[in-house]
Amino acid sequence: MATQSYSLIIHGGAGALEDLKYEASESEFRESVLEILAAGRERLESGVAALDVVEYCVNLLEDNPLYNAGRGSVLNENGEVEMDAALMNGEDLKAGAVTCVKRIKNPISLARQVLEQGDHVMLAAEGALEFAKFCQAELRNDEYFITNARIKQLKEAKAAGRMMLDHEKVKPSQKLGTVGAACMDSSGNLAAATSTGGLVNKRWGRVGDTPVVGAGVFADNETCAVSATGYGEQFLRTVFAKTVSDYVQFKGLDAPGAAIAGVDYLVRKVNGAGGVIVVDRHGKCAAAQSTSGLIHGWIELGSEAICKLG
Ligand code: ASP
Repeated sequence: MATQSYSLIIHGGAGALEDLKYEASESEFRESVLEILAAGRERLESGVAALDVVEYCVNLLEDNPLYNAGRGSVLNENGEVEMDAALMNGEDLKAGAVTCVKRIKNPISLARQVLEQGDHVMLAAEGALEFAKFCQAELRNDEYFITNARIKQLKEAKAAGRMMLDHEKVKPSQKLGTVGAACMDSSGNLAAATSTGGLVNKRWGRVGDTPVVGAGVFADNETCAVSATGYGEQFLRTVFAKTVSDYVQFKGLDAPGAAIAGVDYLVRKVNGAGGVIVVDRHGKCAAAQSTSGLIHGWIELGSEAICKLG
């Protein structure tokens, strides 16, 4: 039974705006963000739980080849798609994650199955694929995921000498198009979800921040729900999403304060490049970034949907 208002915020990645527009116009991003927010609103108004809503919104982002998650994921150094995803429920701190997965149409829904199954928090690579078959998750061939834009992007990265094995040399201006959602449902429960193809030309087998609870995703009903995007190694080293939550818990900040404090910390400690979306336990929405662009949109406490690309 719905008792209060709801909030929802989604993102489609951080980076330099010109890189974000790699394969599409601003209006295409704007339209898709507003469509997904409208679909999320419909569910929230009918009392659907935050965890289901973030999974659903991320499914829609994964299905859209504009974004670096699911279909349209960037390619690793071998020209392959390897995806990471995780989600977390703020009510009981249950979490599910998958890493280095191939062929999974919706990695976030496989992460949800891991959460529901309950024995483990994260499954990787072949083991995750076995589990996906067991759960009868939807699988697709490589052609489904790999777009011409991604092949071109990988060629450019390699031509620019960015096929090196050392990730520290990957330029932060490279497109960082991970997707995510954070939500407070009408019962006051929080949840967050993040899904990605990772970094262009990443080393085979590399695990970023996205599937790591406390780095790329975090939710706790006592504080906030967080989804991050950016250069994953920096988010891992700063335990980024949990750090944002800690700013709420121990410094008494709200979502806008914690988002800014988190990004300040990221920049100060590791010169980090990326962004974050946050919903706090009172339903306040916020985003902050150290890159020039962050594709995102939100509905705060049931109000009008707003989309921002910068
Ligand atoms: N955080 C992701 C990763 O490092 C990339 C992104 O956010 O676009 O895998």
